[in-house]
This record gives sequence, structure tokens and C-alpha cells, in this order.
Amino acid sequence: GLPALLGVKDAMSILHDGETVIVDAVGGALVTSPSPEELAQARTRAENYRRKTQETALYLDKDPILADGGRIQIKLNIGGAGQEELAGAKYSDGVGLFRTEFVYMSGQDLPSEEEQYKIYRKVLMEFGDKPVILRTLDIGGDKQCACLNLPCEENPFLGKRALRLCFDLPEVFHTQLRAALRAGAHGNLWIMFPMVAGLDDWRRAKAMLDAAAAELAAAGLAYAKDCKVGIMIEIPSVALMADVVAQEVDFASIGTNDLCQYALAVDRANQTVCEYYQMYHPGLLRLIRFTAEAFKAAGKPLSVCGEMGGDPLALPMLIGFGIYEVSMGLSAVAQSKKI
Ligand code: PEP
Ligand code: MG
Repeated sequence: GLPALLGVKDAMSILHDGETVIVDAVGGALVTSPSPEELAQARTRAENYRRKTQETALYLDKDPILADGGRIQIKLNIGGAGQEELAGAKYSDGVGLFRTEFVYMSGQDLPSEEEQYKIYRKVLMEFGDKPVILRTLDIGGDKQCACLNLPCEENPFLGKRALRLCFDLPEVFHTQLRAALRAGAHGNLWIMFPMVAGLDDWRRAKAMLDAAAAELAAAGLAYAKDCKVGIMIEIPSVALMADVVAQEVDFASIGTNDLCQYALAVDRANQTVCEYYQMYHPGLLRLIRFTAEAFKAAGKPLSVCGEMGGDPLALPMLIGFGIYEVSMGLSAVAQSKKI
């Protein structure tokens, strides 16, 4: 729940020991050696921020209902089964994005089926009947992990990332799918594939999931038999095919972080081009609106689980597009419910 300031160039050489600075994480500025007036103003802003945050926190356990009676689903983005990750279960409508790659990033060795099963089961049991959307391994790009020893690529965001990597490492993918399906016997599991570029990717991943399910059935093991299966919409080619893919998938979730990166051709992790990373670019909004209309027409659930889902400016617009389900970090839930 604390705002943070990132990407201050040369911070280590600009700053000196013992120097007073203002870290304005909301405004996105670092003020060195501030004047007494600047300090006083910053203190007032900090106090106002604290008061506003306390007022907003009162909305955490409210139901998000529109003036016309429509009920918005607010789900959580989580990265593991730790206490802090699960603390929001009672304030949310489920998990809209379980970033399972963090399970792989924490150790030197690949997590076994049993280790993954226990983590996924813990999350599913905590959320009970509420849906938990487990996103399969999304490693590569900015997310590296020691246990996979991935090759260096010149353009990692456009390279062997996520599903593409899983197709290359079928045993790794198979282990995860088995663990997820088995854990799904203990809750309301939905499985989602990241970095889907089109129907080929979707069908190939779905076939691998079906094979894992068939194997579990043949072995007489308990698993999620009627789990919903969907995709992330985060590559423009699949957003533009939304009307077609909506016929096949059970649901989708728009990953606006990557959709913005790929639609605007701007590396989301490169601060030298961050002014080109425009969340409200009309080109991006057209992709989102087109996707929303396509899924509405097909009668399939669609959510937004990128940062835009918890963005106070974007939220009313998404609802205007007919997207009634958003997923975000716990720190954004109260504010979104208030809106
Ligand atoms: C996204 O791309 O918007 C998303 C939710 O996935 P990640 O940020 O993990 O790439
Ligand atoms: Mg993404």
C-alpha cells in the first residue's frame, strides 16, 4: 500500500549521505535539498494523502455497485500463496490473475509437481467457491529465472517468452498443467494461457491441457474436470481476432501492460522511452473496445488484469466499454470500489 518511486537516473551519485530529500512517489519526483517552503508543502501533501487513504480504506469491504444496479467484479492479482497475497480474499470476487512464474523464480531448481500442487491448492482453498484464474508460466521478457537457464536474446520481449517457451519445454509445461488440474479439485479453478498470438497458440496449449487431464483421468487421480480455460489478450494480433477466438475460448483477460507495449512498440521496462508508453493512447483503447464488443457478442466473460484494471482514470472508461470485471493488486481495491 505504499507508493514507490522508481527509475531515478543516477540516484546513487546525485544523493549524498545525510541529505534531506522529498520522495514524491505520487507525483513521480525526487526533490533534493528542498527549501523550507518545499518541505512544508510536501508535509501537507503527505498528510492529505494519508487522510485520503484512510477514508478510501473504508470502501474495502463494500460491494462495487453502479448507479444503475450493475455489479462490478473486482478480483485480485497475486503472485504466490503467502499470507499477504491471500489477505485480500474476503474483499474480492476471486483471483483474476495468479502470476505463477513467481513460484519458479524463487529457487534454483524447478518446482516439482507436488510443490506446485500444494501452492495452487492453498490458494484455491483460501478462495473457496470464488474463481481463481491461474495463469500458466509467463517467464522470459523482463522475468528471468535461475532454474531454467534461458538463453540471452536480443529482443527478449519479442522472443521466446511464456507460452512459446512452454511449447519448447513440454515437460515443464506438462508438470505445471498436472499440478494445476489436480489442485483444481479443491476449488474453482480457471486456467489461462499468456502470450497467445492467435488460434494456433490457443489450440496447441489447449490440446496439451487436455492431454494432461486425460493422463490424470487414466491414473484415477482427482482433478478439475470442468475447469474453464481461457487466454490473455496481450498481443495485438489476438485482440484483432477477438471475435473469432471468443467462439472457442471460455473466457479472456486483457493484459494491458503488454498490450500497450506491443501495440505502441515500446519496451515497458525501458525508462528512456517511457513517454511513449501511453496507457490512454486511442489506438490501445480501440483494441480494448473491439475486444470488449467481441466478447460481449459471444456472451463470454472478459476482464482486464493489467495495471489499467485498477487505474482510477481508466476504470469508468472500461465500464463504459462494457467490461464489468477487473483484477488488480490489493492496494488498488478500496479505491476502485469507491469509484
Ligand atoms: C499484462 O501484460 O498486462 C499482465 C497482466 O501480465 P504481466 O504484467 O504479468 O506481463
Ligand atoms: Mg503480460
